[in-house]
Amino acid sequence: MKIRIIFTLIVIYFFSLSFTARSQNELEVKELSYKLYAIINPQGGNIAFLVTRKGVVVVDAGSTPQNGRDIVETIRSVTKKPIKYLILTHLHGDHVNGVAGFPDDVTIIAHKDLEANNTKFNKENLENYMENILPEHLANLRKQLDSISDKESEEYLELIETYNSHVDYFENIKRIEFRKPDITFEDYYRFKITDQRIMLEYPGPGHTNDNIVVKFSNHNVIHTGDLVFNGSFPYTIVEHGVDIYNWVRILDDLYKENITTVVPGHGEIGRKIALKDQSDYFKDLSRRIEELKNAGYDLEEIKEKIKHSDFRLKGHENQLAVNIEVIYSELTSKGREWWKF
Ligand SMILES: [Zn+2]
Repeated sequence: MKIRIIFTLIVIYFFSLSFTARSQNELEVKELSYKLYAIINPQGGNIAFLVTRKGVVVVDAGSTPQNGRDIVETIRSVTKKPIKYLILTHLHGDHVNGVAGFPDDVTIIAHKDLEANNTKFNKENLENYMENILPEHLANLRKQLDSISDKESEEYLELIETYNSHVDYFENIKRIEFRKPDITFEDYYRFKITDQRIMLEYPGPGHTNDNIVVKFSNHNVIHTGDLVFNGSFPYTIVEHGVDIYNWVRILDDLYKENITTVVPGHGEIGRKIALKDQSDYFKDLSRRIEELKNAGYDLEEIKEKIKHSDFRLKGHENQLAVNIEVIYSELTSKGREWWKF
C-alpha cells in the first residue's frame, strides 16, 4: 500500500519519468523544418530546438538533471552552436527539472508566474520527496531485500534492480535547480534571433495557470507545452489552475491560425489536427458528462459509466476520472449554458 501511495505521488509531480536513467539515454531527433527540430522525450516533456547562426533556442528542459543533460547532448549531436535561450512552457517537473543539465549562461524565458509556482509547488514538494518519501521508500525496499534469503532468486534480483534504479533517481533529483527565469512576461513576448521570429504567448489558464505556447513563426510550427497530449489522456490538476473551458477555447483559436506542425507536450509530433483532436476530446467528454448528469446520475456514477476504452487514447488512463471531476465541477459551477462553442 505504501509503495502504491509513493507511486501516485511520483505520477502527480514527476510524471512521465523513467527510473532507468542511469547512463546517457539516446533520444530521437526529428527535423520539422529547416534547422528546426523536435526531440521526442519519453522521460519527460517533448523538446523543440531551433538552430541559428547566433545560437540555439530550446523549448523545455526535460524531467531530471540527467534528462536535461541527455537533451543537451542530443542537441550537440546536431550542432555545436551555443545554447542561447531556454524557454519553459509551464511549471511541471517533467518540463523544468532538467534545467540543471543546461549551460549556466543560458537565458531562461518563462511566464511571470512560473517562478512563484516553482516556489509554491515544486520546491516544497521536492524537499518533502527527498527528505521523507524517497528515503522511506528506499528503506522499505531495503527491508524487503533483507527479508529475502535466497540472494540468487529472481525476486531478489528484480528487487535489487529496482532498488538501484531508485537510488540513481534519488542522486539525479538531488541536483535539481530552480533557476530564476531571466526574462518573464505576462501576455506576449516576441524576439528575433538572426532572421528567425519566435513568438511566446500566454493564452490564459488551460493546463496550468502559467502555460505558454511557443510559435516558430518562420516555420508555422508551434510547441504547445501540455496544452496538447497527443494520443493520451491529459493531466488536469486543479491546484495548478486548470481551466478546461478556456483550454478548449485556446485550442480552437490556435486551430484557426496558420500552423502546420504541432510539437505536443507529450506524444508524437502532430499535424495541425492534433489541436482539434485535443479540443474534441474535451468537448465529447463534456457532452457525455452533461447527458449523464441530465439523466440523473451523480459524479461517482458518471465516473463509472464513462470508460477509458470509449476513447482512442492510450496512456495516463487514470487521468480520465480526474478529467471527469474537473469538467463536472466546471459544468456545475458555471452552468449548463456555459459549455457552448
Ligand atoms: Zn504539464
